[in-house]
Amino acid sequence: MRLKGKIALVTGAARGIGESIALHFAAEGAFVYVTDIDEENGEKVALAIGQCARFRLLDVRDERGWQKLTADILQEHGRLDIVVNNAGITGFEEGFVPHDPEHTSLAAWRKVHETNLDGVFLGCKYAIKAMRATGQGSIINISSRSGIVGIPTAAAYASSKAAVRNHTKSVALYCAQQNLTVRCNSIHPAAILTPMWEPMLGNGPDRAANMAAFVQDTPLRRFGLPAEVACVAVMLASDESAYLTGTEINIDGGILAGSAGTPAK
Ligand code: NDP
Repeated sequence: MRLKGKIALVTGAARGIGESIALHFAAEGAFVYVTDIDEENGEKVALAIGQCARFRLLDVRDERGWQKLTADILQEHGRLDIVVNNAGITGFEEGFVPHDPEHTSLAAWRKVHETNLDGVFLGCKYAIKAMRATGQGSIINISSRSGIVGIPTAAAYASSKAAVRNHTKSVALYCAQQNLTVRCNSIHPAAILTPMWEPMLGNGPDRAANMAAFVQDTPLRRFGLPAEVACVAVMLASDESAYLTGTEINIDGGILAGSAGTPAK
């Protein structure tokens, strides 16, 4: 019960990493607001958790939605302790569109940034405001390995995630300056097997080969699991990490440690 008595909000929690974080938070004793634009699956996640969860429709790009939801949470619980800004898109959700620096359209570039960056900006903004009620809290931003290295075929995604990495540090410093015990840290996953990967892996006979190809440069030679990211989020949400702020945690099977770590074939 490492999160006993805490009130948490997780965005993009209808599936994948966000769903796993919501389940882990509830298992550790938190009351969890499961939020997403996917109402059907979001409701299912909240139902599976039970009394300690509630689904709320929240498009992270919608400032009014953030205002309303955080006001409702404060009215209901008088506090908001944990916000996980998890919702994110790659830009390939509706099929292939060019995402390299030369051919990406301005519209496609902006669309990715609206969810991945503007959404995190709003999430941090309203988390800080809500956390003033108690003067403490933990904000966790889900960035990516792609926020640390360039991705030539997913430039908007990489750019948005890099901005999230940096904004996390601005938020951490701002909260410290304001004498708030509000911490803000980023998690940088890579190759976590969630529905986000489905369009890239396919369901055909090539699936196993596609999966192997995606992790061939990963020292641990496998995809990570949503639960493995959720465990890191629990640590950052709990008081165990009271002295961690403005930092970043890579959870990537060792890929950013350097290619020399790849085991010999
Ligand atoms: P998924 O695509 O599996 O889940 C994302 C969820 O967010 C979906 O339910 C989606 O709804 C929802 N969502 C999309 N746009 C919005 C929005 N504007 N407002 C609210 N919810 C929204 O993603 P993952 O679980 O794989 O990824 C979660 C986070 O982790 C993302 O930020 C991603 O960039 C990051 N990440 C993931 C990695 C991975 O390998 N999986 C690696 C590195 C980082 P809908 O399905 O209806 O669109």
